[in-house]
Amino acid sequence: MSFDILKGMATTLKNIGKKPTTISYPEEERVLPARFRGRHVLHRYENDLERCVGCYLCAGACPADAIYIEAEENTEENRVSPGERYARVFDVNLLRCIFCGYCQAACPTGAITLEHNYKLASYYPEDMVYHKEQLLEPRGQSTIGSNTVWFEPAPQEAAQPVPQVKHVFDGSQASAAAVGLGDIPNEEPVLLVDEEQDEDRRKFERGKDWEHA
Ligand code: SF4
Ligand code: SF4
Repeated sequence: MSFDILKGMATTLKNIGKKPTTISYPEEERVLPARFRGRHVLHRYENDLERCVGCYLCAGACPADAIYIEAEENTEENRVSPGERYARVFDVNLLRCIFCGYCQAACPTGAITLEHNYKLASYYPEDMVYHKEQLLEPRGQSTIGSNTVWFEPAPQEAAQPVPQVKHVFDGSQASAAAVGLGDIPNEEPVLLVDEEQDEDRRKFERGKDWEHA
């Protein structure tokens, strides 16, 4: 008997009494980590209006160019979201998506989150482009999805229309105007070493610190 066969049998004998590390999927399923990022869900507010205001920030943040949106104006006869616009078309190409979660992070209204949906096989590639109708929560079943894990829920009196320095944004009061980073500083000040040459800039930066205090 060759040495390799003996080595293989030794490995088998060593593991024979151990609990298997595999499971019998699909009868059994693993419990996923709370921050697991699977297929996207588009959320509604409790009054059934859609959270998405068609701002394209998620599409702009997507490194895989996986999101396609066509926005349309809300009208009084057809109000779909609380903002000026809503997404008439919202497609996510799950063949391009790398499930990085940047779209979720970029969304100012908490409209898109990546959830625990990972059963994403299909026979045809075109079926992997998910449309708004497949992504949107049903009426009367609004949630904030995995944002419950990522964001500490803001107390009522602290709810803000845009992301704030304190990071207690829950998206509940956003509108089409509430895009961008709110009052979160988005660049490091570049200051000269000689303070006298840089007095105005330093005064300006100190003023911004005071605003955020
Ligand atoms: S998870 Fe990442 S790759 Fe996928 S759609 Fe969102 S931003 Fe794009
Ligand atoms: S960033 Fe949010 S609100 Fe803006 S288009 Fe994307 S999902 Fe809609």
